[in-house]
Amino acid sequence: MQTKYVVVMGSLLSGIGKGIVTASIAKILSFYNYNVLAMKFDGYLNYDCGTMNPFRHGEVFVLEDGGEVDMDFGTYERFINKNISSKFSLTSGKIFSEIIQKERKGDYLGMDVQIIPHVTNLIIEKIKTISKENNLDVLLIEVGGTVGDLENGYFIEALRQLSLKEKVIFVNVTYVMELKKVGEQKSKPVQLALKRMMEVGISPNYIVCRSETPLNKNIKQKIAFFANIDENAIIDNHDIDNIYEVPLRFLDQGFDKMLLNDLGFNNKIDEEKFNSWKKLVNREEEKNKKEIKIAVVGKYINLKDSYASVKEALVHAANKLGAKLDIGWIESEEFENNKENINKLADYDGVLVPGGFGSRGINGMINAIEYARTNKVPYLGLCLGMQLMAIEYARNVCKLEGADSTEFNENTKYKIIDLMNEQKSIINKGATMRLGGWEALIKEGTSTYDAYKANRISERHRHRYEFNNEYRKLLEDNGLIISGTTTDGSLVEFIEWRDSFGIGTQAHPEFKSRPENPAPLFVKFLEEAIKKKVKREDGSISE
Ligand code: GLN
Repeated sequence: MQTKYVVVMGSLLSGIGKGIVTASIAKILSFYNYNVLAMKFDGYLNYDCGTMNPFRHGEVFVLEDGGEVDMDFGTYERFINKNISSKFSLTSGKIFSEIIQKERKGDYLGMDVQIIPHVTNLIIEKIKTISKENNLDVLLIEVGGTVGDLENGYFIEALRQLSLKEKVIFVNVTYVMELKKVGEQKSKPVQLALKRMMEVGISPNYIVCRSETPLNKNIKQKIAFFANIDENAIIDNHDIDNIYEVPLRFLDQGFDKMLLNDLGFNNKIDEEKFNSWKKLVNREEEKNKKEIKIAVVGKYINLKDSYASVKEALVHAANKLGAKLDIGWIESEEFENNKENINKLADYDGVLVPGGFGSRGINGMINAIEYARTNKVPYLGLCLGMQLMAIEYARNVCKLEGADSTEFNENTKYKIIDLMNEQKSIINKGATMRLGGWEALIKEGTSTYDAYKANRISERHRHRYEFNNEYRKLLEDNGLIISGTTTDGSLVEFIEWRDSFGIGTQAHPEFKSRPENPAPLFVKFLEEAIKKKVKREDGSISE
């Protein structure tokens, strides 16, 4: 089948959930058994997200093939429940570096290389190639930023050109403001933004309106009138607690039927697929369950988006266990300057230390891990959280004073975490870490095995430093369990405590967690947290 396209473009302001809208449209089409994937264009000149600070950009999401991409890809994969390749992430950096390479090779010999047609043609070619390679019925295309930005203008122009030859549906995601004091929604900003879109030659087929409260009819009518579209094509997407409900909300408004009609599709809904999603997002039962409190102790806490996949993985696992989740986001520096603060952790049923880079806040995380180990609070360490688990063990159990990672102290006497030789000669920072899916062998009889119930598993990675094999024996002799390694045994992938539940993994299992497929390690961690809570409350039941 010839691929059809649904383009999602923002207007007025960014950060209003374009990624969720894109993923939700993909999801509703997949309820009808169409083969759908999503791609994204980002206007920055970085080649990929690998060198960006999570404080500025949110989480760097890692794909199976090792691509370091925008966090929206996490949303796509979680909704669509399929792996997406790096080719689906286009940036200005990628496009222009290819254009320059082609120019140097002589591909444009004799010509002056221009945005139109050379850059726009390259974009169209890329879109068509991935659609064909993946045999897609529909490709969702999300455009980063908003219409009118300098950075994405040429990309939007390419999409306009694409729409002249192919079936392209344009969806505009925008924001309807509400004046609190007056208690009234206003459509004027949306109308003005609409004009901007029309200036670039695009009339949206649908307008998805984010707002604080449900969209009132009058506003819908007004926006529809100025957009030359039917009132039903104005989709209400007011604030929601559970993002996984958005596809259902779209269905309630008949968005699925209208889209299928536009695309010329006539499949019937796959009731089984639809009902299983519905069941999954309907978390009513959890409301009767007791809350489990998980402390996430990290260094990028001030921007929650930095840990988007960790949060979602916790949500998926809690959902599976029917537990109500309360996450406490704690800035690790709090435990560094004032050791008393550590007692805050007494309120929690589990402690999680996520990934991170650089030395700020490290000792605070180590203090939190020590607290979890000595007070038998279930612990999960992800990447940096595993490295610090090993360092804490070396310092406090093996008494290797000053044990550290060479990332934080190059001159430490005990290099528990260190660069592998292959990493030492690397100068470039972009795409040079250990990245993407790596297989590991899991030792039977361990908690890690209990979680995965498999000998051979695969998780995604993104790190430069590794557990130093010189200390394997010493730490093992002192009771630390090495519960998983790479398949050749050369790199430590999982460690755990012997006397209470605590697992650290060099991987990032959060990247593979999906509502329909929660990450085993997160499920196990929350199971242990529930047990801990039951014990703490002296026999009362939280199941
Ligand atoms: N900074 C550590 C490393 O590079 C951990 C990275 C991470 O947590 N993703 O190895």
